[in-house]
Amino acid sequence: MKPSIMVHGGAWKIPDETHADHIGGTYVAAKAGWAILAGGGSAMDAVETAVSIMEDDSTFDAGIGSVLNRTGGIEMDAMIMDGQMLALGAVGAVRGIMNPVKLARLILQDTDHSLLVGEGARRFAESKGMRLCAEAELTVPREIERFRLLQQEKDYHLSDGFTPDPMDTVGAVAVDVAGNVAAATSTGGAHYKLPGRVGDSPLVGSGAYADNHTGAASATGHGESIMKVVLAKTATDALGRGLSVQEAADYAVNHMFERVGGYGGIILVDCDGQTAFAYNTPHMAVAWADENGSILARIKE
Ligand code: ASP
Repeated sequence: MKPSIMVHGGAWKIPDETHADHIGGTYVAAKAGWAILAGGGSAMDAVETAVSIMEDDSTFDAGIGSVLNRTGGIEMDAMIMDGQMLALGAVGAVRGIMNPVKLARLILQDTDHSLLVGEGARRFAESKGMRLCAEAELTVPREIERFRLLQQEKDYHLSDGFTPDPMDTVGAVAVDVAGNVAAATSTGGAHYKLPGRVGDSPLVGSGAYADNHTGAASATGHGESIMKVVLAKTATDALGRGLSVQEAADYAVNHMFERVGGYGGIILVDCDGQTAFAYNTPHMAVAWADENGSILARIKE
């Protein structure tokens, strides 16, 4: 089986001055994931590595650079899913760790649970030897400034941020030489969210889904819309009905807009390794390996 990878760095109106950072960040992530796959490594390792690299990159709303909630704190969501056995690990509203996707992987591997949240998730991370960090290590000036502006807006609704301004959630989908598919998604969530708000990203079938029988998907955009239409599973189910990978991605995003007026984007890989993405926001940041293994990174309008 020829391996394949695609990553995303969010779908929204990406400001011109940050295009180079988005292209660079998704490029580096896709390249690292591809190197694992090209060396015979697993799709799970590839998506975990790609997503953790984007968590470490302050360009994106995940790990370092996460958006601030209504009390100025950072609570992060992430999920990783293995298409072989439909195994998943996810974490919701976790504070003070650098790489939520790595914690999600540990939850998958080392517990018989699928989703841990809040303080329990953080304590589990500590018990596994993950480094706990101060919130200041995750907080960037860009988000402090945004937080101060939002504090002055009296009638701010969370969905306002998504039309046209969603954030830079990150994700990856891959197929490995053994034909196993995997997906991962990680986010700081929506800016100015209420403390305790969990978005679509750690919800199975919403922010990500992976099934060797159909394919793998990772979503970004307005979480409350994505979860209503179970966006990632909607896309992989469409593959199961025989749609092409591009048709399935388009179908899922159109369905979200028609049914609930939601904005966002999705990356999708089928079990043959064909990739596609679709979005209804002004831009989406994506990178992928072409058939020769060259990495292409783009901000699509
Ligand atoms: N989907 C994420 C959330 O609502 C945000 C994003 O994709 O930018 O938490």
